[in-house]
Amino acid sequence: MYDEIRIGDVVRMRKPHPCGSFQWEVVRLGADIGIRCTRCGRRVLMPRSRFIRQVKALVQRSTSAEEAATAALPHDSRAAHDDIKNT
Ligand SMILES: [Zn+2]
Repeated sequence: MYDEIRIGDVVRMRKPHPCGSFQWEVVRLGADIGIRCTRCGRRVLMPRSRFIRQVKALVQRSTSAEEAATAALPHDSRAAHDDIKNT
């Protein structure tokens, strides 16, 4: 089951949004889960227990952890490396 919710996860819900989209992106975690419709951008808050029941499948796992790791690399060393290549 889908119980490890992360910001940035894209999930497929059992019922479509009125706009026709089944896919939502997780934008807020807490007692209530905040999700944003990937088609029309509308945000909805719902209790975590209800959210879990409504989710049919995890479409795309958030990669924010990997992005954070990449961003943490020292930019100075990369720039220095490029200078060496260019000369
Ligand atoms: Zn929508």
